[in-house]
Amino acid sequence: DRVFCARGLTKVYHMGEVDVHALRGVDLDLLEGELDVLLGPSGSGKSTLLNILGGLDTASGGTVVYRDIDLSHATESDLTNFRRQHVGFVFQFYNLIPSLTARENVAIVTEIVENPMTPEEALALVNLQDRMDHFPAQLSGGEQQRVSIARAIAKNPAVLLCDEPTGALDSKTGIVVLEALKRANETLGTTTVIITHNAVIGDMADRVISILDGRIADIKTNTSKRDPS
Ligand code: ADP
Ligand code: ADP
Repeated sequence: DRVFCARGLTKVYHMGEVDVHALRGVDLDLLEGELDVLLGPSGSGKSTLLNILGGLDTASGGTVVYRDIDLSHATESDLTNFRRQHVGFVFQFYNLIPSLTARENVAIVTEIVENPMTPEEALALVNLQDRMDHFPAQLSGGEQQRVSIARAIAKNPAVLLCDEPTGALDSKTGIVVLEALKRANETLGTTTVIITHNAVIGDMADRVISILDGRIADIKTNTSKRDPS
């Protein structure tokens, strides 16, 4: 099943006299339950694309549809509802509230959505069942990022969008975080898109989508992962 359908997506940022063409015509389908990685050099348009898929930003041209919601013609309040109901975000920085425990940081989100997991379930999925009553300052960077993943998945989003979730972590810790995302994807069936430079993702992803200069340069389907024969 197709979750996202993007056609001819363009994004232009007007910077005074200069137009920055961040996306130059992106056609992309995202399939339900897949874990895809967006790869490409800095400035190629990865974050712009992710933000448009997540309803944090709008395209300048083209169309992007999530199931039966046309995000390219949605109002600001439609986009807010879309984000709240359907999308979990993970960023490079964890944005945890320092005065709340891991459990409480996750509970903030589960209190405002319709069909949440419990904070305990979400934290167990990222292997933090033993850290639930710790405060952010008592947790390592990788653990804090896993709390932020638990917070994102606890609302049971259909889509999980991750923008450099391992960007502030050393590569070994980054692998643990990516494995937590993979486990969530496999357990919950959450359609997941990850921007990362961590090479290990190539083995975990269903597809590696390469972006170059605002366009999709290449899509590699990871057949070895799918078909062990
Ligand atoms: P990536 O995530 O691949 O590093 P981005 O999507 O962040 O790329 O950026 C693509 C291009 O758009 C870059 O040239 C960047 O400088 C520009 N850009 C991104 N966001 C903005 C913004 N808010 N205002 C102006 N230019 C932007
Ligand atoms: P709220 O429900 O608190 O009003 P929003 O509807 O603005 O939140 O946003 C929904 C989701 O999008 C939240 O998970 C929030 O973390 C994320 N989000 C919104 N705006 C931004 C932003 N500028 N940068 C990063 N994440 C954002």
